[in-house]
Amino acid sequence: MLSKAQEVLQKHFGYSTFRPQQEEIITNVLNKKDTLVLMPTGGGKSICFQIPALLFEGVAIVISPLISLMKDQVESLRANGIKAAYFNSSLDPVQERQVINSAIDGEIKLLYVSPEKLFTITNTWLKDVQVSMFAVDEAHCVSMWGHDFRPEYTQLSNVRKQFSTIPFIALTATADKSTRKDIVKQLGLRRAVVYLSSFNRSNLSLEVRANVPKNKKIKEIVQFIENRPNQSGIIYCLSRKQTEEIAKELRNNHIDAQAYHAGLSADTRARIQEDFITDDLSIITATIAFGMGIDKSNVRWVIHNNLPKNIEGYYQEIGRAGRDGLPSTTRMYFNLKDLMVLKRFASGSEQSPIYTEKLQRMLNYAEATSCRRKILLAYFSEDLKEDCGNCDVCKNPPQFLDGTVLAQKALSAVRRTNENIGVNMMINILRGSANQELYSKGYQNIKTYGVGQDLSFKDWQHYTNQLINIGVMEIAYDESFKLKITNFGNEVLFRNRKVKITQAVDRVIKSKEKKSRAKKLTKQEQFFEELRKLRASIAKKEGVPAYIIFHDATLQQIAAELPTSENDLLTIQGINEIKVERYAKPFLDLIKKHNDSKLSTFEVTYRFYQQGISPEQIAEERELSMTTIFSHLAKLYADGKNIDLSIYVNDNEVQKIREAFLKIKTTNALKPYFDYLEEKIPYYKIRLGLTIIMTELAKTKTNG
Ligand code: ADP
Ligand code: ZN
Repeated sequence: MLSKAQEVLQKHFGYSTFRPQQEEIITNVLNKKDTLVLMPTGGGKSICFQIPALLFEGVAIVISPLISLMKDQVESLRANGIKAAYFNSSLDPVQERQVINSAIDGEIKLLYVSPEKLFTITNTWLKDVQVSMFAVDEAHCVSMWGHDFRPEYTQLSNVRKQFSTIPFIALTATADKSTRKDIVKQLGLRRAVVYLSSFNRSNLSLEVRANVPKNKKIKEIVQFIENRPNQSGIIYCLSRKQTEEIAKELRNNHIDAQAYHAGLSADTRARIQEDFITDDLSIITATIAFGMGIDKSNVRWVIHNNLPKNIEGYYQEIGRAGRDGLPSTTRMYFNLKDLMVLKRFASGSEQSPIYTEKLQRMLNYAEATSCRRKILLAYFSEDLKEDCGNCDVCKNPPQFLDGTVLAQKALSAVRRTNENIGVNMMINILRGSANQELYSKGYQNIKTYGVGQDLSFKDWQHYTNQLINIGVMEIAYDESFKLKITNFGNEVLFRNRKVKITQAVDRVIKSKEKKSRAKKLTKQEQFFEELRKLRASIAKKEGVPAYIIFHDATLQQIAAELPTSENDLLTIQGINEIKVERYAKPFLDLIKKHNDSKLSTFEVTYRFYQQGISPEQIAEERELSMTTIFSHLAKLYADGKNIDLSIYVNDNEVQKIREAFLKIKTTNALKPYFDYLEEKIPYYKIRLGLTIIMTELAKTKTNG
């Protein structure tokens, strides 16, 4: 027997099974216990409070920090036939009144409220509402340990006290161990049951590209996008200037992209976001300001143009790709310059030690020589048993080599310049470059000059990064980023301590990206594009984001299974009765057209024939000649299909044609028959008659 929760899942959301943990969480909330849910972006948190909200008497209050997200969620719910509303600063007094009344009258099941509004209403009209539960979304905002602290959230513990008999559920996609504890404490959750889902987003591929020069980076990004026509993606940048630059470069390459950052007017930002959500704009270059308020499920890729500040932020940002569970790509670029900029941000601030530590962990990830997903998940205290197979390290395991001599060359250059040079100068010395600054300092005269000529600048960057990471040398951030030799470095230099480093792997990756360029869309992918277009046109008409109509995952399943009836549609993930009622017609029509185009022309005629439609009508409907339709019927008959040709040519006529055949002996041309029969039997009858005769002959042959 289905549980109540499962019925609601099918009826309101169109899903047949729960994802891991959803059912347990819902049961816990239904038992009126406090709950903390830690689940990655796209894991399916919303349903965990939406389903209890539907099953409880009264109105569920959902606290959410982002106005745009509220609107989206409420629209999504309404599209599924669920009564919901939001209460935030975007409403005018008349709208506010309407929402208040509908909440007091219990006409809605969910009310989304922004935190600052919540505190103004808890002592006023909210007292007149039958509140069923509180859900606190983005709960990490309550903790200073998190990376997105919001002071308004701290007052939520008072609300917990005030509504002491009502269950609270707190949800977040990002919280390390200390933040988790802090959430429970700050919100005042009582004997909260904690549900920790796996943070593994196995549908996201992970890749890091180190030290790619600016020009080449743009080329790579253009190539990357050209390999993914029509796909939505976000490029995250460190600065506003970069977002503008990259968007411009992309447009120069005929790729439609827009920059998004806090320096733009609110109107412009709203418009860009809207275009992105409705699939009118595929690509956004953004500072991290973008994406927080976006619930778009079909972002197919995320690129980081620079090293992110911390793993939480990085994981949240890449998490904006592939929320629908379909395979999605993420790529991060970074170079030493990013690191320097970020270190400079860090220094001086009060939270500097936490910041620096988080940055260091980020760097370790970027420089990883083992499965990246393992490292990410370890950060969230999760132990992945096997290598993921879906990160660049797994796909191209690095080759280790003895780097002792390399390290000694580099260290020697640093030593002979009295630890007075940065990374670039060191490499220039090693490569024997005719650099002006180098000459002015007389570095061309030191013994190490030119000893590393056999390697490219890029390879030297790769090796230098590693030497820094494993602690052979370090960068003095407070001394204009000069290189310093560590104890480990001295041991390498003077006591021949061994150094193991990984081979530069750049070439391998480059050739891969090229290959995929030739990729053509399969039939199914082509049809998926058609479905997307239909969805976009409906979305535009209704003024809602495309994914509110159907998620990409739903369209993918439609493209794969080609449902032909409303009942078939209901078996597709994410389609419920409301959606069938609203959208079945246009989608079924498109599928029918698609199915027809896949059929041979004979099969289409046969379908009409089976429905009892006369050859005249078929000819008219299909805009073909009668002769063609009769030739189809003849072929279908010869193929053994159940077709009664005697309606069109009677026994008497067949007999005459048979006599003619015995004389003429071949069926290559019909004209001899027409002449032989004194033009009394029309061509189409001759064709049908001969078909009957030949089929008989074929039968007697095989039988005898
Ligand atoms: P989160 O809030 O955790 O980021 P959402 O609640 O937005 O994630 O869910 C992500 C996607 O997964 C949505 O498209 C949602 O409709 C879908 N989803 C949620 N639960 C299920 C389920 N049981 N079966 C199939 N899809 C689901
Ligand atoms: Zn891996």
